[in-house]
Amino acid sequence: MKAKERMAIDRQTCAELSPEIRVDNYDEVALGFTFDMAQKEALRCLNCKKPGCRKGCPINNDIPAFIGLVAEGKFEEAYWKVRETSSLPAICSRVCPHENQCEGKCIRAKKGKAVAIGLIERFMSDWMVYHQKNMRAECALPIGKKVAIVGSGPAGMTVAFHLAHAGIECTIYESLPVFGGMLKVGIPPFRLPRHIINAEFAVLKSCGVNIVHDVVIGRDITLDELKGEHGFDAVFIGIGAHTSRKLGVDGEDMDGVRHGVDYLRAVLSGNKVDIGNNVVVVGGGNVAIDCARVALREGSENVFILYRRTIEEMPASTEEIHHLQQEGVKIEFLAAPVKIIGEDGRMTGIECLKMELGPPDDSGRRRPVVIEGSNFVIAADCVIPAISQNVDHEADKGHDFKLTSWGTYVVDKTSFQTNVDWIFSAGDSVLGPQTVAKAVYQAKEAAESIRRFCLGEDMYEGRDVRDLDS
Ligand SMILES: Cc1cc2nc3c(=O)[nH]c(=O)nc-3n(C[C@H](O)[C@H](O)[C@H](O)COP(=O)(O)OP(=O)(O)OC[C@H]3O[C@@H](n4cnc5c(N)ncnc54)[C@H](O)[C@@H]3O)c2cc1C
Repeated sequence: MKAKERMAIDRQTCAELSPEIRVDNYDEVALGFTFDMAQKEALRCLNCKKPGCRKGCPINNDIPAFIGLVAEGKFEEAYWKVRETSSLPAICSRVCPHENQCEGKCIRAKKGKAVAIGLIERFMSDWMVYHQKNMRAECALPIGKKVAIVGSGPAGMTVAFHLAHAGIECTIYESLPVFGGMLKVGIPPFRLPRHIINAEFAVLKSCGVNIVHDVVIGRDITLDELKGEHGFDAVFIGIGAHTSRKLGVDGEDMDGVRHGVDYLRAVLSGNKVDIGNNVVVVGGGNVAIDCARVALREGSENVFILYRRTIEEMPASTEEIHHLQQEGVKIEFLAAPVKIIGEDGRMTGIECLKMELGPPDDSGRRRPVVIEGSNFVIAADCVIPAISQNVDHEADKGHDFKLTSWGTYVVDKTSFQTNVDWIFSAGDSVLGPQTVAKAVYQAKEAAESIRRFCLGEDMYEGRDVRDLDS
């Protein structure tokens, strides 16, 4: 097909559950492409000589190649093309911020809309699941080395996946009763259905990876015990960033204040958490938006988001913000909390200040500046601060790890080795709260380093590792 004909095809849009239906349940909102839509959308790809999409993908997926295969109806081949680089295609295709990554760099978007790369990837991954196709690649025979992995999030599972394929025995230690890290206890099922996570992890587990649940490394077993008594050759730390950052305002310790990831973990673990009818969520990223949408589904009637900048600076994806507003959540822009107010230890509202935007800060976004004397109060039963997360260092016991000023592990940019040579780390514990795709990419590279370390090979030879931190 000629480029002109490809350019004439409109971007396909997938159906979504209507807001009235979806706010009462956790069913997936975006319904994905049909067979015809996926093929039609794939034909929009211009197969550029220097594909921007590939540069924009943190995992470096060969996007034009898999899209070309989808266009030819070769869905299984397309899936295996993505699996050359990605351990979690069905998950990344749903949760990646495509507009800032692959689709944000799509050359076709210079004239019109970007190719819907995420939805095409989702279609071919789901096609494999629904047709019960073999998604398991052969693993190498055991080479007599074993590695302990702390944390079963995307980073830990990706390391296990690659090491198991290299014939290295892996045991994952997970403090929670479920695997998947933030995929299971952070991102709600209406964005990432649990059967999809389970299908991807079944593939990883089929390589013979052991998972031990309800063990907190640092408390129940130390890192040194993993190496000593348990005889592991190396350890990978993929503990993510699970400690909610505080607002740092008066009254934050009152009843009724629940921090974002703690709230999500409680609800998504099946607990009934009564937060009342009037809820204010503070923040503008995915965590804040997920908290607000979960609160609605749990029965709160008036849910507000308080964000100190404007919609343009919100880190959450445009689609998430759109879905949130469709579901009836109001966003109070250019406002920041100064105090949680209440009586007898129980909060009754949140005092805020209005802001205006000043010059850009280090992140490139315009800095919010307080408008003095603009205080106002929002009455609320619950406030959910969801402004960011820090790394919880319980695992570190006995070691003095080099940390950044953000409290994340300092690692070598190629090997992902910490300052302890047999301990490696990647994902949110290195980058701070980031994305699944970045965790998957770093973990794949960390696994390669661990393999070389176990075999006594050079850690750097022939490698060109992307720096996702800059
Ligand atoms: C609400 C929410 C929404 C998000 N939305 C998106 C999105 O739309 N798109 C996107 O790309 N990313 C999103 N993210 C971010 C994404 O989930 C993370 O970047 C990713 O999960 C990081 O993977 P990880 O493996 O490094 O850490 P995690 O997924 O956090 O996994 C770490 C694991 O380590 C375990 N652990 C911690 N300490 C110990 C210990 N001492 N012993 C044993 N186990 C331990 C934890 O229980 C956890 O299971 C979201 C995050 C949240 C919280």
